[in-house]
Amino acid sequence: MAMLEIRGVSKAYGRTPVLRGVDLSVEPGELMFLLGPSGCGKSTLLRIVAGLIRQDAGSVVLGGRDVSALPPESRNTPMVFQNYALWPHLNVAENIEFGLKIKKLPRTEIRKTVDEMLEVVGMAEFAKRKVNELSGGQQQRVALARALALKGDILLLDEPLSNLDARLRDLMRTEIRRICKERRLTALYVTHDRREALSVGDRIAVMKDGAILQLDAPRTLYTRPANKFTAAFLGDADFPEAKCLRIEDGFALFETPMGELRVRLEGQPVQPAQNDVCTLMIRPEAVRPGTDPASPNAFPCIVRDSVFLGETTGLTLDASGFTLHANEPAAPERRPGDKLVCAVPPDAIAILPPDNAR
Ligand code: ADP
Repeated sequence: MAMLEIRGVSKAYGRTPVLRGVDLSVEPGELMFLLGPSGCGKSTLLRIVAGLIRQDAGSVVLGGRDVSALPPESRNTPMVFQNYALWPHLNVAENIEFGLKIKKLPRTEIRKTVDEMLEVVGMAEFAKRKVNELSGGQQQRVALARALALKGDILLLDEPLSNLDARLRDLMRTEIRRICKERRLTALYVTHDRREALSVGDRIAVMKDGAILQLDAPRTLYTRPANKFTAAFLGDADFPEAKCLRIEDGFALFETPMGELRVRLEGQPVQPAQNDVCTLMIRPEAVRPGTDPASPNAFPCIVRDSVFLGETTGLTLDASGFTLHANEPAAPERRPGDKLVCAVPPDAIAILPPDNAR
């Protein structure tokens, strides 16, 4: 049985629809992400699960119990907020125990839980510290400990890392995944940061305009997106239009601006037929500059621009008039005007519906 089931949830503010009949199931122990641009309805959906906002239609089922009509305090859905929402006048331990006291748990159990949670988030030595004397990262740890202490059916996280600097964000996302997996927590996590979703999530629901466009594991979403929006939201890519010349032995042969390209059909969301026009997706790290001209999917390019990025070099290439981007690891220096042969492996190309379809 799913831990959380969202069934046909809709919500409008005035006449503006914000959620359009969203269905979503989160399995026990799963780390589910809601990923999408600002304003697509992620937070609204999360708050509906918490009971902080009431949906116009549809239901929320938690552990088999329909909680749609229950107030937040009657649901077991602790939440971690972007701005931490800690009590500034209380110390770290008092912040963590606050919700437990409201639940009227026995004193000894509260003590034990607070100590355990301080340990889990690595804040044991700061128990007596005032929260306004902590760094942003430490405050976020306290906010996480406070939510974990409530031992909810599902942990809700709303952009929990967006106020942290890049280094801390990387550290904390690893921490959050570790804690959730060690404690077998079920979590619903909202972010607009694709790296956070790709690196932490078991599955990601990509949202746009109040609807889920695609729901899949991170690697599948990245390599086999079902539409251009998902493809572009999850990472850089180029999208040449292509016509399918023929299908042979599990491959499609396409006519593209760069020449003929073979694409492996296995796992493609779109299975083209001869003469179909499709959009192909090529990620920059899939482009191999300096390839043997006899290798599959090789085509000539001219370097238009080259940017040294340390571990990789970013190239802008002209492939018979089509602008293609490449990320080349440990590259020799490339200069504008250099002529190169590039190749893209047949299984590194995704087939998407034509540009005018969604
Ligand atoms: P996200 O979390 O994806 O950034 P939200 O769920 O916060 O998106 O918001 C979705 C849309 O609903 C946005 O266009 C936002 O402006 C609008 N919205 C959110 N809350 C309210 C509100 N209380 N009243 C009116 N519009 C709102």
